[in-house]
Amino acid sequence: MAESEVQKRQIHYPPVPNGIDYLRDVVDRLARESGEPSERDLKYAVLHLQAAAEVLLKARLREEHWSLVISKAEKTNLKKFEKGEFESATNNETVRRLVDVVGLDISAGDKKTLLDLATTRNQLQHWGITEEANAVLTRAADVLDFLIRFLDRYLLPGLGADDEEAVADDLEEIRIGLTRIKSYVNSRMERLKENDLKGHEVRTVRCPDCQQLALIVDGATNNCLFCPRDWTDPLELASSYDSTFGYSPAPGDVYEDTLVDCPDCETPTLLLEAETVAGDGSVPLCFNCAEIQDGLEDCMRCGRLYRSTDEEVICSNCFADLG
Ligand SMILES: [Zn+2]
Ligand SMILES: [Zn+2]
Ligand SMILES: [Zn+2]
Repeated sequence: MAESEVQKRQIHYPPVPNGIDYLRDVVDRLARESGEPSERDLKYAVLHLQAAAEVLLKARLREEHWSLVISKAEKTNLKKFEKGEFESATNNETVRRLVDVVGLDISAGDKKTLLDLATTRNQLQHWGITEEANAVLTRAADVLDFLIRFLDRYLLPGLGADDEEAVADDLEEIRIGLTRIKSYVNSRMERLKENDLKGHEVRTVRCPDCQQLALIVDGATNNCLFCPRDWTDPLELASSYDSTFGYSPAPGDVYEDTLVDCPDCETPTLLLEAETVAGDGSVPLCFNCAEIQDGLEDCMRCGRLYRSTDEEVICSNCFADLG
């Protein structure tokens, strides 16, 4: 047993330094000491971040067994693998194998962060940069944060002394770069809170793009001041918000669906659990009428939410229906 342990530690491991090299490029582009990243920087940062994530996650699979990197193990052999003649597992499947087969601890939030990045990468390859610079920055910071934790916990301990020395400077720069991106985000948010967001706390929610508490729901422009961008279509905003922050099956959740029809404007834009800057906990907020819809009742007949005006127990639709 001791012998195989020693052998495993001595494997020369190019994928890890390769992944770290991509990350170094990402922080060089995003965490410049002076000046904002250009559109080209954003583009290559996303592409290289995605490449880094793929290389590093698969490096851990490969450490377990090379066949785990391949999409269909029954269709290959070691020779083909070594020549690179294989189709590799998808992002989703890679994360699943790390958790279910290797037994690593990757949270649902981290998993979502990774899959969102893959989506951004795909959009970018087809359409170019469609997101605002700040949204790219905050998402990239989340992925960097995860990959550094992943490296520290699951990859660096298995590196040989030579490799470790070779990547030491890059790792240092990557950590400094991440801190720089985070402090840029924090100081910008502090400025917004003290100025433009002041007075709008009750209707300020987290933006689905940049994930900052900087989106003022007014039912018209629905402006995120951090990105900055407008969400002029309340339906798009509501469904983006819901798919980003809404219900995911977890013990203790009350609602099966957190996005429902608003009884006032009759649009499916009522978020039952919107977190606002002012709120303690979450409030029911309609992204179309921009009102907090509390005091609603469940209709006894159809189950829909309605506003009870005269202690009636069914909604007006059902009332009309019964004639
Ligand atoms: Zn935003
Ligand atoms: Zn409404
Ligand atoms: Zn009803």
